[in-house]
Amino acid sequence: MKSIKHKIALTGFSGTGKSEVGRLVSNVLGWDFIDVDTEIEKRFGMIASSIFEECGEAKFREVEAEIIDQAFPKTEIVMILGGGASLTQSQRMRLLDEFFVVTLEGLPETILKRINISTRLNPDSERPLLKGDDILANIERVKAKRQDKYALTHWTVNTDYLSASEVTDEVIRAWHLIGPQLRVAEETRSDVATFVSHGSTGRYDIRVAPGCISKLGELLADMNLSDVGYIISDDTVFPIYGRQAQETLEHAGIKTHCFVFPSGEKSKTLDMAHSIYQWLVGLKAERNHVVVAVGGGVVGDLAGFVAATFVRGMNFVQVPTSMAAMVDASIGGKVAVNLPEGKNMVGAFYQPQLVVVDPLALKTLGKRELAEGWAEAIKHGLLFDKELIAVFEENWKDLMALKGDIVEHVIRRSIALKAIVVRQDEREVFGKRILLNYGHTIGHGIESMTGYGSFLHGEAVSIGMSAAVKISYKLGMVERDVVKRQENLLKKFDLPINCPGLDIEQLLVNINLDKKRMDGKIRWVLLSDIGKPVVRADVPACIVKEVVRELIMGKSL
Ligand code: NAD
Repeated sequence: MKSIKHKIALTGFSGTGKSEVGRLVSNVLGWDFIDVDTEIEKRFGMIASSIFEECGEAKFREVEAEIIDQAFPKTEIVMILGGGASLTQSQRMRLLDEFFVVTLEGLPETILKRINISTRLNPDSERPLLKGDDILANIERVKAKRQDKYALTHWTVNTDYLSASEVTDEVIRAWHLIGPQLRVAEETRSDVATFVSHGSTGRYDIRVAPGCISKLGELLADMNLSDVGYIISDDTVFPIYGRQAQETLEHAGIKTHCFVFPSGEKSKTLDMAHSIYQWLVGLKAERNHVVVAVGGGVVGDLAGFVAATFVRGMNFVQVPTSMAAMVDASIGGKVAVNLPEGKNMVGAFYQPQLVVVDPLALKTLGKRELAEGWAEAIKHGLLFDKELIAVFEENWKDLMALKGDIVEHVIRRSIALKAIVVRQDEREVFGKRILLNYGHTIGHGIESMTGYGSFLHGEAVSIGMSAAVKISYKLGMVERDVVKRQENLLKKFDLPINCPGLDIEQLLVNINLDKKRMDGKIRWVLLSDIGKPVVRADVPACIVKEVVRELIMGKSL
């Protein structure tokens, strides 16, 4: 355990008691206190309702964002967010990553009662968003609109039947209980780049360090995972890294068996899984033994699927060796095999106990495979991290040539971004993990219509991202320069942004088979800016068709 977060943020609707409870928590813990709304009022020298009236909500939110940004580096602090705090996506994720976030909840009726009391006591405290004839209806409407934001939290306290001091006790109890599990991501100081927490108690580290495959045995022995290991690898990777992994495991006293299959997507089948099951049966494999996947995404997905299902789940460790597997496939526990009817049709969410990323392994990866992996890392930046995009733009030559420390830095950052999403929405039910699908709706359509033979996955995603940003532009969500900026970056990494010659009607059919449909509608992941993803289910078919036609004609904006 490294450092415990000495930072608590309280969020929730007006009238849930945030300010009073926040002050009490800060008194009990002896920490600093900052109420963002009060700070804003101080800066403007007027109350919130006057700021809204005289300067407008946009100005209010601008100052709010500034104050929250300034609070991030502080420690031993209790921060109260305004009921309607409109954080950017990256601020919200950063908040969850750096603060212990507690949402205070209350029924609309309770909230109305408390707001009435506080308005009677202090007429200046009238909330600008809650004016009108039917305030209860207003509360219900506005609260429902914000509820998804309040759901992004580590702990929720229902305050309806509790006094402020009881709520305070509960916040502090939760901090003691959960706080120690929430380590600050130490991205640069240790080889633990980040971690993934899942379920109520599970968590695992993602280690990134040059040469760490040679220490795999030690790492596993330290974790006391098992004294029997099963390395699963493909015939390209095994001679280079699989054998090395086997030697370090044996050296650490872990008896190790190896299963090697032909490299490539064609091996990711139930038949191959069946062959591995039979091999494991022959070796009398047990649930507490460990499966170690050494290879690209195909190895990780197949070995993970076997680990998830054999004897109802074995220990599992991922050693990704391709860029795509390092920054994407090995993080988040999606494991699967393909059916003739579709990719990744049979699978599970099955988290490994450890992910070990050795950037030196990338030296032997083909140029095209490297570039397609960078596509996934760029995707994480486009979705969540404008600064990472600037790093890609400045360092593309070194990144493509795998030169310098910048490679490890970018891999770590990209992994951390995905890990944050998985921590918040392990099973893709809270509307967070779907964001990682940026570029995938059209990307998957292109892959399936070309029989997975013409484009590598990351290349298809690159074309899909180019389409998604154009759709965003045509819907008036982004300026033209955002489209151009993304296109230029992808081109620098030798990634395609068009797919000339494909059949337009067939591609539209394949796009409509997207697995992420809901109520018959495709949920498009689009951008409202770099670093600001938006999910839209209302994209008109004519716009999709227009953009697909442009991809096929190779036409730029
Ligand atoms: P891959 O595993 O087929 O690897 C690509 C090629 O590179 C293979 O020939 C492999 O043998 C070779 N290779 C890998 N590492 C190497 C190295 N260090 N040196 C030399 N050669 C090396 O494919 P991939 O691009 O790594 O991953 C794609 C797969 O991952 C797809 O099946 C996709 O569905 C899956 N995927 C899964 C997730 C997930 O969340 N589970 C996410 C993205 C992709």
